[in-house]
Amino acid sequence: MVEQKRGEEGIKDAEFVARKKKALEVDRRLAAAFGITLPADDRDIVHELIHAVLSQNTHRRNYNLAYGRLMEEFGTVQAIAEAPLSRIEKAIRPGGLSKQKSTAIKEILGVIRETRGDYSLEFVRDMSVPDARRFMESLPGVGPKTASVVLMFADGRKVLPVDTHVLRTSKRIGLVDENTSAEQAQSELEALVPPAKRPGMHVNLVHLGREVCHARNPAHEVCPVNAVCDYYQGTR
Ligand code: SF4
Repeated sequence: MVEQKRGEEGIKDAEFVARKKKALEVDRRLAAAFGITLPADDRDIVHELIHAVLSQNTHRRNYNLAYGRLMEEFGTVQAIAEAPLSRIEKAIRPGGLSKQKSTAIKEILGVIRETRGDYSLEFVRDMSVPDARRFMESLPGVGPKTASVVLMFADGRKVLPVDTHVLRTSKRIGLVDENTSAEQAQSELEALVPPAKRPGMHVNLVHLGREVCHARNPAHEVCPVNAVCDYYQGTR
């Protein structure tokens, strides 16, 4: 496929080549500055999905706490699926948004059981990336970002999930246009970044967004990519 149809929508050739070059430079600079490697996750896919649901709109410390509480309380995915909603909600309360998240977890597990006969998602490992994404996104409340995060962390797939940090930083740097949606950005960034570099680029852009390129008052002067950032170069 020609660079995933250049982000499906087709960025013009010269612009595409320039962005591709910039993406490699950004990757190089971020890797040199942060030296972050992808954390090795040993969760199976359904556990990773529950973890991803708990992480939505929640600080890392709180969703890790909620996940720990959930597993401590129930031990297995089947026990979670069979528990009353109120017990799940109580277990994950420290993570916030417990009502929505307990409902989402219960619904997801119900659909998996209904379609597969058990609570495992390990069969996804045998699917192609597009098929795996399609299946994951067919589950209630699972969007492109959650599906990709799960596939990347639990199954080592070479994808580039786009969360709020990746979207904001890639727009400011000039890797995607200002009005690009998160879903479109995922497709465009995956066209720009070679497969082997996608997970690292995701982790480093998230780190950049959290620690340097804040939504308000980004720390341009200490930013490792300021020399190649459209936003910064245009405002100096
Ligand atoms: S230079 Fe500023 S706007 Fe650009 S990525 Fe860095 S912090 Fe964000």
